[in-house]
Amino acid sequence: MAEKTTKPKRKAAASAKPSSDGSLLRQLSDARYERRYEPTTSPFAIVTVLLFSLGAVALGAGVYAQWLRSADGPHPYALYILIAGAVVLLGVALFGQGPARPVRVGDGGVAIEREDNNMERIAWCDISRLLVDGSTVTVQGDGTTISVSRGVHAAAAARIVSEARDRVPSKVGDDVQVKAPEGAADPAKERLEPPQIAGKTCKASGTVISFEKDARLCGRCGELYHKKSVPDRCLTCEAPLK
Ligand SMILES: [Zn+2]
Repeated sequence: MAEKTTKPKRKAAASAKPSSDGSLLRQLSDARYERRYEPTTSPFAIVTVLLFSLGAVALGAGVYAQWLRSADGPHPYALYILIAGAVVLLGVALFGQGPARPVRVGDGGVAIEREDNNMERIAWCDISRLLVDGSTVTVQGDGTTISVSRGVHAAAAARIVSEARDRVPSKVGDDVQVKAPEGAADPAKERLEPPQIAGKTCKASGTVISFEKDARLCGRCGELYHKKSVPDRCLTCEAPLK
């Protein structure tokens, strides 16, 4: 490749690692990465799907037996089948568990893929609280809450807590520990789009950053700075920026 030999080292490194001069300051165009975790299937989600199918079949059969049989009028059990199907479907709607959504963890913070290709994302610097209980890791911040199941997303939950500890240690309690599941490998890193900075302000000066070329990011927590107001250390995570 015809690449210059002076800088590629910094480009190739994961952006959470310091460059050769020790700085974690990044430009918008610098490569960022994250890992995408698919949920494992929980037995409860399988049962939900089975019950939904059974309920739908019973409802359909009930409707047929009650109203659509032309020859002998309604079947004597038609109403019971109809009611049973309706009750099962109602139960599924109230207590069933839909499939969990894929979760992403990396330089862009924590994200969850919702329906319709929508993504909810909380940058590390925007996390206000990280809550861990027996079943869930919950990330709060920026008007958004992302809950990640420690059951179907055991590897992602462990990764969230360990990266949060490295990137924004002040937001993570000292006694918080989530172990990665035995033998589970993290998915490979994927390239991440540059963050949207339109209308956002510099953490240090408060000025609105209008041009992408003026934007600088903390490579550890994702905090945003104007290139003229970059502090020596990140105001949010204390990473060295100069
Ligand atoms: Zn930072």
